[in-house]
Amino acid sequence: MTEPSFHTLAVHAGERTLRAEPRAGASFTPVVTPIYHSVGYTYTDSEDLDAVFAGDAETPVYARYGNPTVYALEAAVAALEGAEAAMAYSSGMAAIHGALLAAGARAGTGVLAALDVYGATYAVLDKLLRGNGVDVRFVDVTDLDAVRAALSEMRPVALVAETISNPLLKVADIPRLAEAAHAVNAALIVDNTFATPLLCRPLALGADFAVHSATKYLGGHGDALAGVTATNGINRRQLNEVNKLLGANLGPQEAWLIHRGIKTLPLRYARSCANAAEIAAWLAAQPGVSKVNYPGLPGHPQHALAHELLGGQYGAMVSFDLAGGTREDVFRFMDALRLIQPATTLGDVYTLVLYPAMSSHRALSPALRRRVGISDGLIRLSAGIEEAGDLVADLGRALGAV
Ligand code: PLP
Repeated sequence: MTEPSFHTLAVHAGERTLRAEPRAGASFTPVVTPIYHSVGYTYTDSEDLDAVFAGDAETPVYARYGNPTVYALEAAVAALEGAEAAMAYSSGMAAIHGALLAAGARAGTGVLAALDVYGATYAVLDKLLRGNGVDVRFVDVTDLDAVRAALSEMRPVALVAETISNPLLKVADIPRLAEAAHAVNAALIVDNTFATPLLCRPLALGADFAVHSATKYLGGHGDALAGVTATNGINRRQLNEVNKLLGANLGPQEAWLIHRGIKTLPLRYARSCANAAEIAAWLAAQPGVSKVNYPGLPGHPQHALAHELLGGQYGAMVSFDLAGGTREDVFRFMDALRLIQPATTLGDVYTLVLYPAMSSHRALSPALRRRVGISDGLIRLSAGIEEAGDLVADLGRALGAV
């Protein structure tokens, strides 16, 4: 049988992998994986239980070690990312932290990361890891010479980058980053949240871990917090060993919601990408907007790379600078929106805006934000699946209020 298309995989992946349950002489398999609200699992006898404890197969024994509803989600994400395995977490941040620990980040080792990553990722590296003795450095990952120089100088255990960065929407050259990282035996951890596996499969391009805030596009409805990491079987065992101790497990209810969201991911995400393209083109023509960041615009610094890497779609995020560039202008703009919601998240069916200086990148000092390129007038927009004309009309009204 030929490999099913992404749309087909999204609908079916991970389902009906559980053993049929006998009932009244017949056996049945639920079409949709049920929510297993059970912490413990018993087995026929102690020999069986002992074998389950000894093995590393996905066999439930205790909820912190794994759960059948979560296994189904993990199988779905592994299939979509073209990975051997995946590991789900209670949040995207837990997934990033787990990948860093599994890659070997310890006191005395080093981690090199992209300068413009999500604010909490920056803080985990800058505060948590550095505070625990890890040599953490940041680099502009679009400058490959600077990346290679930093890698050979510090020989880190991991290089961290986002496929499409938050909030400046720079595009990472994953194949070249993987080559450079592997040349010094560093693992490449790619946060693929903004691109989703529909646009990019980092593992096929050489990355070792593809991490997601599943809270965003994978779930897609703004109703469940989750993280997931796709990787190979050996790394998955390592992730699980770490997480059995940390306990950053995803609950079965959230796993079920994210898995349900995945079934419509290609439909939702393609529509959101089309809306983002239309919004970016419209914003670029507005005198009240001084700069638009969107990889699909011909003037974007990595437009050619984005075209090659992302297969002709450019993601559903747009960020832009208001011409006035002040916090007061941004507040007036956000308060004048009627349809688009100012909310601290992204990747939902609803269109959302966020002010990075106030929320996602608040943890960064004003000086550091300036160094990264996050101005006081920068707004980040996550395109939903509404009608593009309605969204543009709302943006026009808000720009008029500034
Ligand atoms: N990675 C990116 C790119 C994000 O935007 C976010 C959250 O906004 C995270 C990771 C963290 O995910 P979570 O909020 O699910 O912990």
